[in-house]
Amino acid sequence: MSQPKYIFVTGGVASSLGKGVIAASLGRLLQARGYKITIQKFDPYVNVDPGTLNPYEHGECYVTVDGRETDLDLGHYERFTDIRTTGASNVTTGRIYQTVIEKERRGDYLGHTVQVVPHITDEIKHRMLRLDDTSEYDFVITEIGGTVGDIEGLPFLEAVRQLKWELKQDALLVHLTFVPYIAAAGELKTKPTQHSVKELQGLGLQPDVLVLRADRALGRGLMDKVASFCNVEKECVVQSIDLPTIYEVPVKMAEQNLDTVILGKFGMSPRGTADLGAWQNFLDRRHRATEEVHIALVGKYDLQDAYKSILECLSQAATYNDRKVRTTFVQSENITPENVDTLLSAMDGVIICPGFGDRGIEGKITAAHYCRTHDVPTLGICLGMQMMVVEFARDVLGWTDAHSREMAPDTAHAVIDLMEDQVGVECKGGTMRLGAYPCTLAQGSRAEAAYGRTLVEERHRHRYEFAEAYRSQFEQAGMSCTGINPDSGLVEIVEVPSCRWYVGVQFHPEYSGTVLHPSPLFVAFIRSTL
Ligand code: GLN
Repeated sequence: MSQPKYIFVTGGVASSLGKGVIAASLGRLLQARGYKITIQKFDPYVNVDPGTLNPYEHGECYVTVDGRETDLDLGHYERFTDIRTTGASNVTTGRIYQTVIEKERRGDYLGHTVQVVPHITDEIKHRMLRLDDTSEYDFVITEIGGTVGDIEGLPFLEAVRQLKWELKQDALLVHLTFVPYIAAAGELKTKPTQHSVKELQGLGLQPDVLVLRADRALGRGLMDKVASFCNVEKECVVQSIDLPTIYEVPVKMAEQNLDTVILGKFGMSPRGTADLGAWQNFLDRRHRATEEVHIALVGKYDLQDAYKSILECLSQAATYNDRKVRTTFVQSENITPENVDTLLSAMDGVIICPGFGDRGIEGKITAAHYCRTHDVPTLGICLGMQMMVVEFARDVLGWTDAHSREMAPDTAHAVIDLMEDQVGVECKGGTMRLGAYPCTLAQGSRAEAAYGRTLVEERHRHRYEFAEAYRSQFEQAGMSCTGINPDSGLVEIVEVPSCRWYVGVQFHPEYSGTVLHPSPLFVAFIRSTL
């Protein structure tokens, strides 16, 4: 059994610098040399998981195959590395405290005072090492959420300090900072980076590698200056300049030898050459595509992060169709029967987004109606699929009161109803139908054509489902149920075969698309718009 190497990634100066993308890119680079890696994120907030956070607070909630609601950075990890993360790959302060408090109540601490150091930090350390339980990894990459200097991040940084001390040569720290350009002075400024490194040093942590994020090239002089002011070797300072796509980051990091620098720090000689061939092919194809496909995202939010995985899947799928995607957020709250034509008529395709609650719900139904009756290629995801069903029930089956029980608890036509095992569930955290479940696809359906097989597995996050009792009436009226869970019979996919491509899925295909393995459903959706 070999001891894996641990790479910790922290961030300073500002949030939203793309730590997740840097961590994921590093993972991809090490994989390109044939190393086996895994990757995880520690988040300093007190929620036990981000499942209860609204997208304005924290962007999309990403669901792992094993059914945990996690941070959206895990989506980057999967899209970049093709690894399937699990619940163990995302740990919050809330989860740590919950575990420690449960142990305390059980009496596990034998009468001792339970403290942040060592009990909370020990639990963090335990979880930081735990991903390598099976000793199968060469590298474990651990991203620490938040920004150095945040009060709530301190126990995590203390845990990293202790681990760096204990693991000696087997651990190193990559610190990502921001170098702002001051327009009035016409200069890039490194002072915030120096302060951020000082802050780390004050906590007993010396970064081994610095990644400097900036909106323009830094120049070697500036990077050398940062190196000498921050006790970091010159070749260990790399820059991360704004790029047209985050998928170029691994290549840019490779050009600056980030992988060999890190291997060198671990005293390892690089294995072979980095094979980024397939990745580069993807990028080349992406850059070659000039023709646009214009997709509307009909949802509650006009916020990139709220629909992160959908946007990434769209852009991957467009590349695989040799197109560039242009997306327009259409807030469902603003959609009315009067303006829907103006809002959607220029679109090549429409995605009706997932969501919760009734804000903007009639707008989603209006959009579904427009798309179905104007034959606009449409993909409805989760709540989007449910509203396609409601629209069909109202307009084609003539049940004007049709709705989901989520929005209309007393309707006589609850065509979308609460799942049986959700009845009486009061606790909101982690209690939905979550994670990957199988789905059998009907022969000859759009879905089967997309996947090219009849059994698939996709991830879920919902409490409501298509009401089985109405199924035959829908099918007779022209909406087919083409994806069924083989164990429970739950309707996973609906289609209107008389339309060009009108498909609603109860699951979330967007969680599974990666750069090298795009979501078949998104690829087929984009193809249908051409
Ligand atoms: N609110 C719906 C449900 O719980 C849809 C959820 C979603 O879109 N993720 O079933």
